[in-house]
Amino acid sequence: MPLARSAIVRIAGYTPGEQPRDRRYVKLNTNENPYPPSARVAAALRSFDPARLRLYSDPLATDLRRAAAQPLGLGPEWAIAGNGSDDLLTIAVRTFVDQGGALAYAEPSYSLYPVLADIQGAAHVPIALDARFDPPADTAAQAARARASLLILCRPNAPTGNACARESLEAICHDFPGVVWIDEAYADFADDNCLDFVQRFPNVVVSRTFSKSYSLAGLRLGLAFAHPDLIAEMMKVKDSYNLDMLTQALGLAALEDRDAMLSNVQRIRATRGRLVAALEAMGFAVPPSQANFILARPPRAIAAGALFRDLRERGYLVRYFDLDRVRDYIRITIGTDEEMDGFVQAVGAILRQTGG
Ligand code: PMP
Repeated sequence: MPLARSAIVRIAGYTPGEQPRDRRYVKLNTNENPYPPSARVAAALRSFDPARLRLYSDPLATDLRRAAAQPLGLGPEWAIAGNGSDDLLTIAVRTFVDQGGALAYAEPSYSLYPVLADIQGAAHVPIALDARFDPPADTAAQAARARASLLILCRPNAPTGNACARESLEAICHDFPGVVWIDEAYADFADDNCLDFVQRFPNVVVSRTFSKSYSLAGLRLGLAFAHPDLIAEMMKVKDSYNLDMLTQALGLAALEDRDAMLSNVQRIRATRGRLVAALEAMGFAVPPSQANFILARPPRAIAAGALFRDLRERGYLVRYFDLDRVRDYIRITIGTDEEMDGFVQAVGAILRQTGG
C-alpha cells in the first residue's frame, strides 16, 4: 500500500523550467530578468545584520504589505505576501477550493494550476482559450456550470504572452459567483493591468510577483491584493512565517525604487519589439506579447521541438511545451539586446542548415 495519499501518488507534480549547472547557457527559458535588481536592494542586503536572524520574522509582513498597498491608496489589510506568487496560488486553492470541489483555469496557461487542483483533491475545469488565446465570452458560465469555486486567469497569459481585453475580464468577474484570481505575474511588462478590479469586485484577487519585473526570482516574493475579507481568510491558511526576514527587508527596498524596475521594464519592452521584428522577418509567427517573453512558431522548415534542441546545443536555452495548442511554438524569454542578437544569429544559422 502506498504511504502517500492516492491523489499524490497518482500525479507527476509540477515541472519547473530547467536551471542547468552543467554548462553556461544564455537562459531564455524561465522568464527571469536579464538585469540586476535595484542598487537599493544590494545596499539593503549589504547592511542586513545577521544577528537579527536570531528572531522570527514578522508573521504578517506588515511593513511590506503597507508599502505595497499604499500606492493604490489602500491599507495593508488589502494585501497578502507570499514566498513567491506560487505560494499565494497554493494558499488560494487551499482557501477557496474544497476537497472534492472544482478549480477552473484557462488552457493553455500556467501549468501549475491543475497540479494545485490535484494536490487539493479537486476536479479540473479547464476552459479552452479561443484562437487568439483569450478567455471565451462564456468563461464564467462554463466555470459556474462545473461548480468551480475558484477561477484562475492569467493576464498577460503564460505561455502565450497575450493580454485579453480588460472589459472581457471585467464581465467574467461580474458574472462568476465564486472567486476570480487574476495572475498578473507579467503585468509590469503590459500596457495596462487589472489591479483596480480589487476595489470594484469583492470576489477578485490580483497577484503579482517580484520574480520578473523586479529581477528577484531567487528571493521568492509575491503579493496578492483583494478586499480585506478575502485577504483575512487567506491569512488563516498561509504558513505562520511564510516570508523570511531578509525577503521582507529586500522586498521593501525594491518597492522603494520602483523607478529602477520600470527602467528595466522599458528596456525589455524595447528588446521584445526588436526580437519580434527579427523573427517575423525570418518567417516566424508570433502572437502579440505583453510579457517579458514571446511565443514563436518557426517556419515550416523546422519543427519547434527540433529548433529547441538545436538552440540548446548552441547554448541558448528556451522553453518547449509538448502540449496541445502550443507544441508548434517555442517560448523565448526576453534577454538583453546582445543576448537577443546572438539568439537571432543562432536561429538564422539553424534555419540555413535545415534549408529554411
Ligand atoms: N504565475 C505565472 C503565470 C508564472 O509564469 C509564474 C512563474 N513561473 C508564477 C506565477 C510564479 O512566480 P513566482 O512563484 O516566482 O512568484
